[in-house]
Amino acid sequence: MPSIFRAFVLAGSVAAGSWVGLDRPDAESTRDLAQRGLSSGARYLATLSAPAVPETPAPATSALPPEGPIEFGPLPQHRDPESVPSHAGPWPTLNPEASIAKAWMVAEGPAYEPGDRRRLVTLTFDDGPFPETTPAVLRALARQKIRAAFFVVGRYLDGDDERAVQSRATLEKVAAAGHIIGNHTHDHAHLAAITHTQVLDQIDRGAASIERVTGKRPVFFRPPFGELDDFGQQAVRDRNLDLLLWSVEKQDMTREDSKEVFRELVAQIEYKEGGIVLLHDIRWTSVRVLRELLGWLEERKYDPKKPQRLGYEVVDLPTYLRAVAASPLPYESRDELERVREAAYRARHPNATAKGTRAKPGDS
Ligand SMILES: [Zn+2]
Repeated sequence: MPSIFRAFVLAGSVAAGSWVGLDRPDAESTRDLAQRGLSSGARYLATLSAPAVPETPAPATSALPPEGPIEFGPLPQHRDPESVPSHAGPWPTLNPEASIAKAWMVAEGPAYEPGDRRRLVTLTFDDGPFPETTPAVLRALARQKIRAAFFVVGRYLDGDDERAVQSRATLEKVAAAGHIIGNHTHDHAHLAAITHTQVLDQIDRGAASIERVTGKRPVFFRPPFGELDDFGQQAVRDRNLDLLLWSVEKQDMTREDSKEVFRELVAQIEYKEGGIVLLHDIRWTSVRVLRELLGWLEERKYDPKKPQRLGYEVVDLPTYLRAVAASPLPYESRDELERVREAAYRARHPNATAKGTRAKPGDS
């Protein structure tokens, strides 16, 4: 099929997205904090932004397991079936260089063949586990037999206090339900705003906290705020981790209007025709958005008996990545993809403004 024709078919079928433009969150960089004369320790702590724990205060870091060198087992290799639930099966290495730009592109999903009206959606949750809300997410997913991926903040799993014990138990439930568990750093740090030593510390201590609970070192890694500089990318590459970002997100972390978040989220899914959805399993707002989203997706489920009708299929992460590997988007950059999408959208909706225009900096 001539590529120009395929590009238009592709544009026609994938013209449902809008970018998640990601500027560096306006976190005060270490340099600014330096000017404020804060000590290096204070500067480092100021860049850590793990979402606040409700009610019971977070365990003092001193509750962490005794400091000193953390013994690491052999580093995992890619496509290590041991590292993910057995049902997930191996997945391809799409981004061995751990390039952030490539990771954003991979998140945008596969190119669909003309006539193929099945669109893939995979669900991901960040910043947990929280004993209050994460179980509600697990129940909603279990009702529809959906397997998702949870990107965990290691710090919540460390310590002997009641909350740490509950958080570990919650993560065990996540693992037992067959969901993928990924590393979201130890303290939800702005990895591009801290020292190199601290970057490595955040990645490795995050992984170690998870491994102590699940017995498996996480292979998927999601940097907070989708932020990773060259050094961070090198660190991810050196550890053979799979950098995993998202393509559908509507600031559920900072908003209370779950109905509006839901509406904007499904508008973005329709515009991109699928994608990697990011929600946060630590907020009741997000739990409400999830329940509505699952209902919406169920109503628009792809029906092989009606192949001409566009429909969504919620798949697990390895299945989504296998589809991307099998049919990658033929664009060099997201800007190029966005131009095609917007053109296709305007062609289909001459009077409408592009739905789901650029999202504000994502809150991962
Ligand atoms: Zn996050």
